[in-house]
Amino acid sequence: MRNFLIVIAVLALIAIAANAQAPSPPPAPQVTVICAGALIDGKSNTPRRNQVIVIRGERIESVAEGGGANLPAGANVIDLSRATVLPGMIDAHTHIFLQGEDPAEGGYDIQLLKYGLAFRAARATVSARRALEQGFTTIRDVETEGAGYGDIGIKQAIERGYIPGPRIFASTRAISTTGGYPLEDYAPEIEVPKGAQLIDGPVEARKAAREQLDHGADWIKVYMTHRSWVGKNGELVSQPTLTVEELKAIVDETHGWGKKVACHAYGGIGLHRALDGGCDSIEHGLDLDDAAIAQMLKQGTWFCPTLSVYYGHWAPENTPAGQRDRKRVEVHNVSFKKAMKAGVKMVFGTDVGGFSWNEPIAQEFGRMVEQGMSPMQAIQTATARAGELLDMSGQLGVIAPGAYADIIAVAGDPLADINQLKQVRFVMKNGSTYKNELK
Ligand SMILES: [Zn+2]
Repeated sequence: MRNFLIVIAVLALIAIAANAQAPSPPPAPQVTVICAGALIDGKSNTPRRNQVIVIRGERIESVAEGGGANLPAGANVIDLSRATVLPGMIDAHTHIFLQGEDPAEGGYDIQLLKYGLAFRAARATVSARRALEQGFTTIRDVETEGAGYGDIGIKQAIERGYIPGPRIFASTRAISTTGGYPLEDYAPEIEVPKGAQLIDGPVEARKAAREQLDHGADWIKVYMTHRSWVGKNGELVSQPTLTVEELKAIVDETHGWGKKVACHAYGGIGLHRALDGGCDSIEHGLDLDDAAIAQMLKQGTWFCPTLSVYYGHWAPENTPAGQRDRKRVEVHNVSFKKAMKAGVKMVFGTDVGGFSWNEPIAQEFGRMVEQGMSPMQAIQTATARAGELLDMSGQLGVIAPGAYADIIAVAGDPLADINQLKQVRFVMKNGSTYKNELK
């Protein structure tokens, strides 16, 4: 009898153990339903009223006219029926490793000279969170300014859920030439860190692209112009950096990896070299002449203007730097309007980090509208158009079946007041709600 009981007990233990190890079926993905009072889907030119968005797991399953009749059973319902719902916004030009330091307080140089990488990475996590809480669920971060491959680390930490932040398309160190990037103006005897990887010649150029791609760069960022000043005839002049041959080596290598090249270029020789070298997006493009616009149209080159950042920190008016600062804004506005009229592909970018992450990123929309873009068009540059730039058409920047559930909401109507986008009240990324002040 005693033996029998022991056998029973052992069998029971085995059964418990086996049960504990039995593979349980994966849990059904969470179903969430958003009831949207007004929906701007990122692509359509008119908003739709009373829409029901069904989200399964991290993707949008359906979008339909709502009456509440066919809500899936057991769904988590989010009522945004008094709000305007939009796709999560995309800023295609950010720097999470810059903090908008005032030039008067040491500016850019201080970042590289005084702060260790751990400190800079800690601040970058705050920048990433700031992007997300402002409704930017995706960013193309265009280089770390001397912080090496730090952007890849931040991206990994976000993807694995250690810290909140947007999806990051990272471009790591960026590439320029000797004499083509700070830190500079130090005694030649002193070796100072540089804010980009400096190369000379097509061989070094290709090698730098290979290294950066090997370490995880999603995009390659190249500086095709550097210093700028007002020339003899009152024009904005900017110093060219890479040659066409150097850029072609980078573009050829990067395209071979299925990735794209973003070129910082203000105007003139450097901008034309950027286009002749086959870059995929012109960053800033302050001074686009007619030939540049024609070539961008022909090659399908993207234009990522960054209007707001040039309004900050102007040097005194009667100094060369002060004149340069004012000239930059003046020509940028003209180029913006010309490119828009010509139908150049335009995408939303701010250079945030160049200004403080505590300022609203969405201030850029107001500047775009001031320059004649319609509010809907401006919104599309930060949604469906940006998704296209990132080769994520239909997946990012739209509220449509199959897209990632990156969804935001504002209380008012951003088509009537574009500055509503400075006050995003609801943020969902990948189907998870990060913030909801509209309950
Ligand atoms: Zn930038």
